[in-house]
Amino acid sequence: MLKEFHCVQDCSDCCIYRQYFPSVDYGKIGVLLLPVEKKEMENMAESYKLKINILPRLGIGFNKKLNGPRQVIAYQLMGKINGDYCPFLDTESKNRSPHGGFNCQIYDYRPISCRAYPVIKEGASNVELDNNCKFSCQNSIWANKNLLENELKALKRISNDFDRFANQRIWRYATHIGEQAFRKLLRPRGWYLQND
Ligand code: SF4
Ligand code: SF4
Repeated sequence: MLKEFHCVQDCSDCCIYRQYFPSVDYGKIGVLLLPVEKKEMENMAESYKLKINILPRLGIGFNKKLNGPRQVIAYQLMGKINGDYCPFLDTESKNRSPHGGFNCQIYDYRPISCRAYPVIKEGASNVELDNNCKFSCQNSIWANKNLLENELKALKRISNDFDRFANQRIWRYATHIGEQAFRKLLRPRGWYLQND
């Protein structure tokens, strides 16, 4: 029987650790932001007096002058330390979330991708979870749909946004961010056309 999803006690992994994606040479990715969220995050950081780094993530079209995309369709909020640790995660104070993890300082205004996590796909009677989430590591990547309505709603919002670009060639931004040990493998920061 499928388990109902709940955060693992004291876990904050999804706000701390970021992946090298789609491969190590592209560097670590940040928290996905839709274009409409970029300014909101910048304003939020300003009001919390936090320094943040937002890089482009995906683009479409071609801008000859820039040798890059004509339009950015997604941005990413980079982690503070080698690409890890979201700048909005409060690791300093003693405040904790209901399941004991570190607090998100902007929880009520967090990005849509944070609202969707850890759901990555909706099935007929279940959902697929990101295999990096501690719950899915300890249980299964499949979970009961119950208790995940808000995550599914947020996932739908993201996929609706991206569906518009389904037939377009995608540019991906290499962040050149990661641990020292991998630095030599990282491409120069910038745009790369996918499937080229
Ligand atoms: S990694 Fe999974 S279990 Fe841990 S805080 Fe994030 S969503 Fe919850
Ligand atoms: S914005 Fe909040 S929920 Fe999203 S990664 Fe950062 S700390 Fe976590």
